[in-house]
Amino acid sequence: MSLASQSISQLRSQLISGDIAPSDILDSLAKAIDSNNNDIGAYLSHDLETAKSEANSADLTKPLGGIPIAIKDNINVLGQPCSCASKFLDGAYTAPYDATVITRLRAAGAIPFGRTNMDEFAMGSTTENSALGKTTNPHDTTRTPGGSSGGSAAAVAARSAIAALGSDTGGSIRQPASHCGVVGLKPSYGRVSRYGLVAFASSLDQIGPLTQNVEDAALMLNAISGYDPSDATSLQQDVPDFTERLDCGVSGMKLGLPTEFFGEGIDPAVRKSIDAAIAKLEAAGAELVEISLPHTEYAVATYYIIAPAEASSNLSRFDGVRYGNRVDQPEDVLDLYHRSRAAGFGPEVKRRIILGTYALSSGYYDAYYNRAQKVRTLIRQDFLNAYQQVDAILSPVTPTAATLLGSDKDNPLQQYLADIYTISANLAGICGISIPCQPITSDTGTSLPVGLQVLGPHMGEQTLLQIANVAEQA
Ligand code: GLN
Repeated sequence: MSLASQSISQLRSQLISGDIAPSDILDSLAKAIDSNNNDIGAYLSHDLETAKSEANSADLTKPLGGIPIAIKDNINVLGQPCSCASKFLDGAYTAPYDATVITRLRAAGAIPFGRTNMDEFAMGSTTENSALGKTTNPHDTTRTPGGSSGGSAAAVAARSAIAALGSDTGGSIRQPASHCGVVGLKPSYGRVSRYGLVAFASSLDQIGPLTQNVEDAALMLNAISGYDPSDATSLQQDVPDFTERLDCGVSGMKLGLPTEFFGEGIDPAVRKSIDAAIAKLEAAGAELVEISLPHTEYAVATYYIIAPAEASSNLSRFDGVRYGNRVDQPEDVLDLYHRSRAAGFGPEVKRRIILGTYALSSGYYDAYYNRAQKVRTLIRQDFLNAYQQVDAILSPVTPTAATLLGSDKDNPLQQYLADIYTISANLAGICGISIPCQPITSDTGTSLPVGLQVLGPHMGEQTLLQIANVAEQA
């Protein structure tokens, strides 16, 4: 097995014993990227040379010592491009500092070395909104990898990354992980600092890992978690060792099955795969409990008010003056703003800015934004009530497996609706993980991954990983 195909823990034991050096892993990744990046397009760019010089001085005694990590293109890494897959920043912005997650990965001995493709400014669920290139699903290259962290998921699935970072505002780690057959973890709001993440919707955004297995997700979470004074929303809480309870099993645990997440609209083949995974957790000793999350019915509508509203404010910083590309010879400053924004943003980003500005505008604020905030509180309360009865909640990650490239491109509403199972976790601030379960067979005979979602209470990542590990072993 090539080094690029191995997990963090497999590589770590060989690094510690001296059987391999960090540069061997980078050589193996370089080969994998050369052989598959034309087809898969997971990376926008990489800098293996700088990574190699960093690898020479990697401290192998650290928990991630010598492990190269791929980074979604919206997380700042000092000296590397950070384009958010947008023409606005492409070729015009080099990160002047490390995001806190990068500082922490480095402190754990890891080496951030490549930039993965994504939907522009993380808006989308197929990576087709990238202005800078196409990414395909390694399991079936006629299909999308999901999104918005599609490049990170595809890189791990194609074994051209050992592990990657993504960001999840409404499902962008869990959904591509599900479509690509890898593990994707969205931490609780406040668990991981977003300092240095290009903001999409600040009350929802979280950074998290995409990995080959659950243990690697725990190792990555150990490295990136913790209080950071540079992010006012990060919580002052101790960080447990997330690998500690991986082998504790699910015996005696109560796992909730929300009726609202198992209703109409799920592809029957996906449903079958999810049911089989749930049955295995039951066989491992968990008790299944039917629960209700009555207000999650409104989650998509609520999210698509709040997220665009916050985005319209966050993206006002892209004005052609301070960041990125600007048009030539503007007549005046307004002309500079107008034409730079018109040329720099793609259609989905413009749609979100217009939707968000509308929802926040005088006369509509109460009807849309304020009402959405009230419904958000009800959704959060639904989850609080549920966690009085159960330890965690199980559901599909998405209603279908990965869709064909181009199939939903001109139908944003169809895409928004597919976020139905992932979005509530962001609105409620809780943690969630996608674990590969039984793949299904597509019409063309390809095998497509399906993800089981486990949702844990706020700051419940240890329990979440404990359940995920049982699901993975099963
Ligand atoms: N698909 C969702 C959206 O387009 C989620 C994106 C994300 O989590 N970044 O907003």
